[in-house]
Amino acid sequence: MDYHPRTMSDHFHQQLGIIREQIAQAAARAGRNTDEILLLGVTKKVSLEMIQEAWASGLREFGENKVQELKAKAPLLPSAVSWHMIGHLQSNKARDAVQFASLIHSVDSAPLAAEIQKQAGKQSKIQKILIEVNVAGEASKFGVKPDALEALAVEVNSLTHLELHGLMCMAPHSDDPEKARPHFARLRNLRDGLESSLGYKLPVLSMGMSGDFVPAIEEGATIVRIGTALFGRRAK
Ligand SMILES: *Cc1c(COP(=O)(O)O)cnc(C)c1O
Repeated sequence: MDYHPRTMSDHFHQQLGIIREQIAQAAARAGRNTDEILLLGVTKKVSLEMIQEAWASGLREFGENKVQELKAKAPLLPSAVSWHMIGHLQSNKARDAVQFASLIHSVDSAPLAAEIQKQAGKQSKIQKILIEVNVAGEASKFGVKPDALEALAVEVNSLTHLELHGLMCMAPHSDDPEKARPHFARLRNLRDGLESSLGYKLPVLSMGMSGDFVPAIEEGATIVRIGTALFGRRAK
């Protein structure tokens, strides 16, 4: 019998094509240029082989949510990979995050910002960061409260080794992507308000995951963080 098992790799390539198409269509609906949207492959719990496969297919930027995993994987993959730290960051892991991450998405407190400043200083690096905002006010989520955002942004601005590029959020979990839309619109509005109070551009909006990246793009996302839809379900 002629039997062709459907490999992980086939699944990945098929999904990558579908997701790129969905990104392009969402961008077109919003009158946006697809080139301004980064597809960040979220590689937590994804094997090195699969990440290599993703790299070979042209993905250049990957996100990890744990510093230990980032630190373990980064040296084993092409040095030209741009790694993003997307998960909650504890101050005592700031040194490794600064060493390995081109962009830290999850800055949500002044003490964490101060620690990143210290570690980036030691490594002579200007660390690009986003501030994570808890847009829906969920007790289970990290991120600064919207009403504390401006104070944190002002604080970050005073830190010479930090460069603020924009905001990040996670919408509450739902099976209906449309439920996420108002949270994404809120993050965009917060960003617009912050731009006028700070007086400079904050071009990056990191919002949208496997289940809700389409409305996120329609609401202005410039980075969509996609794991499951690309690489399949993760082991718990
Ligand atoms: C895991 C993770 C993602 C990707 O989630 P999927 O639903 O698998 O696409 C995005 N952002 C953060 C912060 C994550 O931890």
